[in-house]
Amino acid sequence: MLLVAPENFLLFAPLLPEAASGTIEPRHAVIPLREMLRRTQLLVGEVTSIDLESRTAVAEDLTGAKHEISWAQLVLSPGSVPSVIAVPGLKENAVGFKTLTDAIWLRNRVLRQLETADATLDPVRRRELLTFTFVGGGYAGVEALAEMESLVSDALHTYPSLSRQDLRWVLVEARNSLLPGLDPKLARYTEARLRRRGVEILLETWLESCVDKKVVVSAPGVEPYVSDTIVWATGQRPSPLVSGLGLATDEVGRLIVDDQIRAIGRSDVFALGDAAAVPDPDGGICPGTAQHAVRQAKVCAQNVAAALGAGQPTTFTYRNRGLAVTLGRNQGTAQVYRFTFTGVLAWLMGRSYHLLMMPGLARKVRVVADWTTAMLFPRDLSQLGSLGRRAPLE
Ligand SMILES: Cc1cc2nc3c(=O)[nH]c(=O)nc-3n(C[C@H](O)[C@H](O)[C@H](O)COP(=O)(O)OP(=O)(O)OC[C@H]3O[C@@H](n4cnc5c(N)ncnc54)[C@H](O)[C@@H]3O)c2cc1C
Repeated sequence: MLLVAPENFLLFAPLLPEAASGTIEPRHAVIPLREMLRRTQLLVGEVTSIDLESRTAVAEDLTGAKHEISWAQLVLSPGSVPSVIAVPGLKENAVGFKTLTDAIWLRNRVLRQLETADATLDPVRRRELLTFTFVGGGYAGVEALAEMESLVSDALHTYPSLSRQDLRWVLVEARNSLLPGLDPKLARYTEARLRRRGVEILLETWLESCVDKKVVVSAPGVEPYVSDTIVWATGQRPSPLVSGLGLATDEVGRLIVDDQIRAIGRSDVFALGDAAAVPDPDGGICPGTAQHAVRQAKVCAQNVAAALGAGQPTTFTYRNRGLAVTLGRNQGTAQVYRFTFTGVLAWLMGRSYHLLMMPGLARKVRVVADWTTAMLFPRDLSQLGSLGRRAPLE
């Protein structure tokens, strides 16, 4: 069994917003693959091409060397990548929120902005430094914004020269509500909570441009403004690895699979997660969530084993049980079947669920220790952005 992965860890993405806000140590949001998969050979690198006819793939390792791999059964789970649409200035000025690097960068950036604003006397420039725009009102955008706002709120009292009036948080969403797929009542609750915390929520609004960090949005009445930090938390598209195979894909480029997670017309190719269009037992296609990807992985593993002669194949029957969204300290929303919860209870439910899903006892214990520490002590506000830049020896 061989796994090709670009990092030697699995990122538990639901904890990414908390890793960004520093509620948990970023390293605790990942699980080392070599520790988790003791009987699997790991090749840290990237699959660059796949040939279905000869059942081979080429992977490039960290040294740049290419490896030709022969496979009997192929499992594709390359996830999604940010789709950068043609918004002027976007590539140059916005950052994504998908990887651990993004989360660590954002935390350091936000804290650095506070320090720079503290040292700035010009009130206009100070406001620009402390204006944060998040584009995308889905789970990633809402949770990331809520956690960062919560971090800054807690940090503010340590900067006597800064006040809430210096801060501006803007959330831009193209649809007419936040958090698609969640009970509309909970989406409205989330919107109200964020607005109460001073977040400007612009619904049915598009980012039109952000050249030189000057944000122009489609909403009438919102004047163009400078936002030093712009987070692009929307527009994911399936990894191009699956669309280039010549197999059937859906309208957004996900590989179409059957209820055994197997690509249409192939007995030896499986696909799951954000890059696959897996039939949802409740109708339609499964949403791109970790809870679905994990269940699809179990079905896929059983079917790969069956294809190799061990055991019987099975079908994907998992039904969505609900969703939880954490909104920073003690706030959240949760939906379990048709029951809805808000506030501290929902926040605790979200945390418990994430803990339950987190693989490995050691990581669970570390996360609980981080949460406990965060409840008992003030936030750690150290800004370690300079760590990535090694000073040259003179
Ligand atoms: C901020 C954030 C918060 C989220 N919160 C939740 C939540 O609370 N609950 C929930 O259920 N879901 C949540 N999700 C969604 C969830 O993370 C995804 O649905 C899930 O990770 C999809 O799993 P996947 O394996 O398909 O893709 P991924 O987890 O993205 O993994 C794909 C992996 O394949 C690698 N890869 C890509 N191309 C190649 C290649 N050519 N060669 C080798 N490797 C490659 C990628 O680098 C990546 O490591 C969240 C997502 C984000 C970004």
